[in-house]
Amino acid sequence: MIYSVIVDISNSQVDRVFDYISEQEYSVGQRVEVDFAHRVTEGYVVEIKDSTDCPPDKLKPILRAKDDFCAISPQLMQLGKYMQYKYNLRFIDILRLFVPSEMRGDRVKALVKRKATLACDKGSVEDILTTIKANAAKQRAVVEYLNEHGATLVEQLNADFGSAAVKSVLDKGIIVVNQIVMRRRPQVLTVKDSYHVPTLTQQQQLVADTVLSDRHGSYLLHGVTGSGKTEVYMTIIEKVVSQGKTCIMLVPEISLTPNVMRLFRDRFGDRVALLHSGLSKGERYDEWMRLKNGEAVIAIGARSAIFAPLDNIGAIIIDEEHDASYISDFNPRYDTKDVAKYRRQQNDCILLLGSATPGLDTYYQAMQGKLKLLEMPQRINKHPLPEVETVDMALETRRGNKGILSQTLKKRLDEVSANGKQAMLFLNRRGYSSFLMCTKCGYVAKCADCDITLTVHREDNELKCHYCGKRYHMLDTCPECHSQSFRQGKIGTQQIVELLKNLYPDVKVLRMDADTTQTKEGHAKILTAFANHEASILVGTQMIAKGHDFPDVTLVGILDGDQSLYYSNYLAAERTFQLLTQVAGRSGRNNDSGKVVLQTYTPQHYCLQLVARQDYKAFYRREINLREASAFPPFSVIVRILYSGEREKDCIEQLTAHYADIVKLKEQDTSAFLYLDKMRCPLKRAEKKYRFQILMKLTNDCAEQTIHKLFAITDNRTMRDVQVFVEQNPQNLS
Ligand code: ADP
Ligand code: ZN
Ligand code: ZN
Repeated sequence: MIYSVIVDISNSQVDRVFDYISEQEYSVGQRVEVDFAHRVTEGYVVEIKDSTDCPPDKLKPILRAKDDFCAISPQLMQLGKYMQYKYNLRFIDILRLFVPSEMRGDRVKALVKRKATLACDKGSVEDILTTIKANAAKQRAVVEYLNEHGATLVEQLNADFGSAAVKSVLDKGIIVVNQIVMRRRPQVLTVKDSYHVPTLTQQQQLVADTVLSDRHGSYLLHGVTGSGKTEVYMTIIEKVVSQGKTCIMLVPEISLTPNVMRLFRDRFGDRVALLHSGLSKGERYDEWMRLKNGEAVIAIGARSAIFAPLDNIGAIIIDEEHDASYISDFNPRYDTKDVAKYRRQQNDCILLLGSATPGLDTYYQAMQGKLKLLEMPQRINKHPLPEVETVDMALETRRGNKGILSQTLKKRLDEVSANGKQAMLFLNRRGYSSFLMCTKCGYVAKCADCDITLTVHREDNELKCHYCGKRYHMLDTCPECHSQSFRQGKIGTQQIVELLKNLYPDVKVLRMDADTTQTKEGHAKILTAFANHEASILVGTQMIAKGHDFPDVTLVGILDGDQSLYYSNYLAAERTFQLLTQVAGRSGRNNDSGKVVLQTYTPQHYCLQLVARQDYKAFYRREINLREASAFPPFSVIVRILYSGEREKDCIEQLTAHYADIVKLKEQDTSAFLYLDKMRCPLKRAEKKYRFQILMKLTNDCAEQTIHKLFAITDNRTMRDVQVFVEQNPQNLS
């Protein structure tokens, strides 16, 4: 047979598929080793054929199979083709999404250990013991131990009784040793004893029943913060797996908290496999293998868990479906929800999207009847949503308070400490202050590789680029004018903590942001400490916004509500509404007296007013009308072609060539284009690369067809040193 094999070489810009021959049988999706350019190279079988154009003397054999199973199932191969069509990705980049990255190049293998048991044809223990000399006490002990405890790891027996004794009984045939595959499991604190499944509320039961009554449908669950969505998901999963099907449950990486993992482990035990970036190589490989082998039937993880190696899927659930992390904005670029819809179709199963603040686009689809809308407008135990007090910071300043904490917020913080409750303060700016500027000449410290001002980090006394992570020495004199006087920009989380410590010397404060959660356990440690009341105030960035359920938090302070409102992106209001509503939702979850203090310079902005009312539907109506009037998504498709390269001239040349073709295309298909222009990106340079873009707005009717023409244009006349990406409705337009 002839097998087309796609070879897995990393630095190629194009897919390399070649024909090989073999007497042995391989299946499509199987990982194999082949000779490619005189090197043994890994690849995947992508097609099986009877004949080839390759001359027989050039045709090489497949060397061997890399696994004793087929790494990529037919369903996933088909999904790969869909993704290739939809996003114009290299096929090999897609296939790499389907297997644990460590499997490639054999950077991780199954952990095999040896286990000993008594040989069963040797009769009773008494019989066996008579065959061992009386003075061989250790050998006797091995036998007695195995009789009592059953199969035991050889390494443990060696440690307890000495390897000589173990070897002797093995040589005598008294014990037998088998190789077994050990599964490295991620550590999750489980509390099995105290775990009980709560009786669903009427509201929850109704939603679960509706979903389970039509197991081929697509649903949007709009449930306010604290309405108990997780229990609904688990009830549905329980039912679906009890009937022999499998499930995928996605959560944003950031809310894949120890708490959520614990809930799933407690409820489903070994049937659940965790897939997220905090796992070790071995754990990730083994969790994947457990899904692949059917040892586990529920995959829970961040966006890449949508590629879990499961067949016979009964439900795909996406929690916090509005979250931007479901869209991959680096190669390979894809939208998890597109992929989920495709897998739903393949399996004819349930697709359930859930959120307190659904994406505008998703809610619009529900309004159009493409998703069935389910609602949970009430919190568990009918706890009211927290009361929001908006503070006008401009007024506060005029009244003489130039600090970052308003009088109202200070008063509320006092109340919280008096009552022994807890507070969360949200500021989406990490570090000490946002920039460092020379007061004399106006010099601003910037990253040498990126068009980004550096953030001051006082703890390490350095400047950091928040884009590429590069670190610089703190400046004491201006490199331009040698002045020693500097001004610092907006306050970040580090400074807030310092401020609180001065203001409340007796109160313990914790901070959670990208700086304090760099280690694998950093995240969990902070959350556990806060849950255990080791601190009364948690200061954090958007990391504190999602998925946390601290019953004693009765106050949430939003320090700079305007911060994300003025990004020059049509998504700014939607993102701000979602983020602030989620943050506000952390307050009063188990309690009738939740409060939120929302500090802003623009209290009259509709987005902030609707956050204060926590009125999603009103926000939706207002925003969808704006989008329709201005023909932004979902009423059009935004396409950006991004060019980046180290030489500015090359980028411009490449862009200009493509742009000319697109202008021609527009002349032919005038009705397809609502907008077309080319420009520098707002972020002009990043990681040493210059950035340019072509921006388009396409009508919905023509978008798919036009995008394929754009793929053809960008695949043509490509230059080596310029990277070109076509992005559809990108979340980030920087
Ligand atoms: P959401 O994800 O909708 O914001 P959660 O799923 O975090 O809400 O649930 C909020 C809280 O309510 C959690 O502490 C959860 O354990 C609890 N809870 C959920 N369902 C029930 C129920 N039926 N009875 C009692 N408590 C519940
Ligand atoms: Zn200066
Ligand atoms: Zn940088």
